Amino acid sequence: MKIVLIGGPGSGKGTRAKHMAKHLDLPHISTGDIFRHHLENKTEHADEIKSFIDFGNLVPDSLTIKLLKKRLEEDDCKIGFILDGFPRTMEQAKGMDIPEHVLFFDCHENTLVDRLGNRLMCQDCKHIYNLKGQRPKVENKCDGCEGDLIQREDDKEEVIRDRLKVYKKQTEPVLDFFGNKVTKFDTGKEVEESVEEILKFLRKEPVV
Ligand code: AMP
Repeated sequence: MKIVLIGGPGSGKGTRAKHMAKHLDLPHISTGDIFRHHLENKTEHADEIKSFIDFGNLVPDSLTIKLLKKRLEEDDCKIGFILDGFPRTMEQAKGMDIPEHVLFFDCHENTLVDRLGNRLMCQDCKHIYNLKGQRPKVENKCDGCEGDLIQREDDKEEVIRDRLKVYKKQTEPVLDFFGNKVTKFDTGKEVEESVEEILKFLRKEPVV
């Protein structure tokens, strides 16, 4: 099954995708994670990627599509995948096979800003925490691997507003493109509740 997640920054795509991947036994492919991997490993693409990500802009379509395509060619993606953060532009949407499901994570803008501003990430295992919700047990340390928690460069206040503008202008039109493949979910609620709702839908059980 090929599933695409679309939603603003902070709408909970990454967190929900991780849970969904575990339950559905599908690989979770995040273009944001692919880019961060290039930054950490200082690859030949790192400088170019950094010059966009740090300012809340989208990485050019050509590079994004190239790196994602390489990842999707790996064996684990043969059974399908959960795409988190792709497509983000019409060009990207038009260049891909139409997925079975496009899940639109709808979340109020104030919630997005609040979530991103309070978000911390483990610099080692990349687990996400939220200072207002999922706090770590020990301040600034990851519960799982004890790595240091950091704020992503692009979660800084001045960048958040730009990311939201980019989302509205470049990514929202993609929803119209996918038409009746799109199902909307309110992800302003707790993670467990919204994951359960999504899984019920994907397993075709009635959502109550
Ligand atoms: P994310 O982790 O999904 O919030 O992505 C972090 C950043 O990576 C975004 O703000 C963009 O700069 C970049 N990015 C992620 N996915 C894409 C994409 N599909 N197209 C272009 N840039 C992307």
